[in-house]
Amino acid sequence: MRLGIAIDSRLCMACYCCFTACKDEHCGHGTALSAPQPMMGQFWMDIREWERGDSSRRIKTATVPTPCSHCGEPACLRAAKDGAAYKRPDGIVIIDPEKAKGQRAIVDACPIHAVYWNEELSLPQKCTMCAELLDDPNYLSHLGDPGLKVPRCVEACPNRALVFGDLDDPESEIAKRIAEGRVTQLEPLLGQETGVVHLNVPTVFLAGTVYYPKEEEEVCIGAKVRLTCEETGESWETETNYFGDWEVEWLPKDKTIQIEILHEGHKPVHCTARTESDHYVAMTWLEKE
Ligand code: SF4
Ligand code: SF4
Ligand code: SF4
Repeated sequence: MRLGIAIDSRLCMACYCCFTACKDEHCGHGTALSAPQPMMGQFWMDIREWERGDSSRRIKTATVPTPCSHCGEPACLRAAKDGAAYKRPDGIVIIDPEKAKGQRAIVDACPIHAVYWNEELSLPQKCTMCAELLDDPNYLSHLGDPGLKVPRCVEACPNRALVFGDLDDPESEIAKRIAEGRVTQLEPLLGQETGVVHLNVPTVFLAGTVYYPKEEEEVCIGAKVRLTCEETGESWETETNYFGDWEVEWLPKDKTIQIEILHEGHKPVHCTARTESDHYVAMTWLEKE
């Protein structure tokens, strides 16, 4: 059994319920697996957000909740002396709250900055995947596969953006979600298996708006927009919505994309865009055939 959390950025609405549940569980409450989490300055469930888009016409926020990834080959474990960090048979990586005292190198070793330094206790600290609760026969949680307890953050997520379970069981909900999703490894952890699996992390979007001919001053609803990547031949299709807007997400980075806009009774429109960054390509006015 290999325990893990799948985190779906597409479903995350940055409500911070997971962050708050983690604080509720771990602040002021230490166990054999972790000292109490300080209220301020530590983000065991770190909701990482950034702004996307390059014009005032289309700005979005990307949200990637990021706890410790419980890596297959943990850099923190390599940096820890005297067994101060270890991996359990279920894959959960733990920093020992006694043995790790004074070992600041464990904080510096983590490539995704998921370990925090507790100045008062002189201790590195991070997400335990709530192992102390999973081990507790008296802990009851109300979500997940039958018979499975889940971490507090997973239970708290109102949008099921977090799913916990056995990564090795193909019948588990987590395995199914991962099989259906778009898996994105965090760049510093590329190439290694992790207990935390990120799904649907945004890459690049292109967007635009289609109008009927200028004299009509109306947005065009239902125009077909086809994008084709010159290098890979991949293609994507969408339609303009009630505001005449179109948008295609999860495009490959740094590619040239051919855009074709089609609407019955009007001339096709062709243009090209690069996917170096998210952007609003153009306002397009159709011409009658
Ligand atoms: S994400 Fe960082 S703290 Fe967590 S297991 Fe990997 S190296 Fe260690
Ligand atoms: S698994 Fe537990 S310790 Fe880790 S972020 Fe979620 S609530 Fe916090
Ligand atoms: S609780 Fe769920 S939806 Fe809210 S921030 Fe966390 S992962 Fe996102």
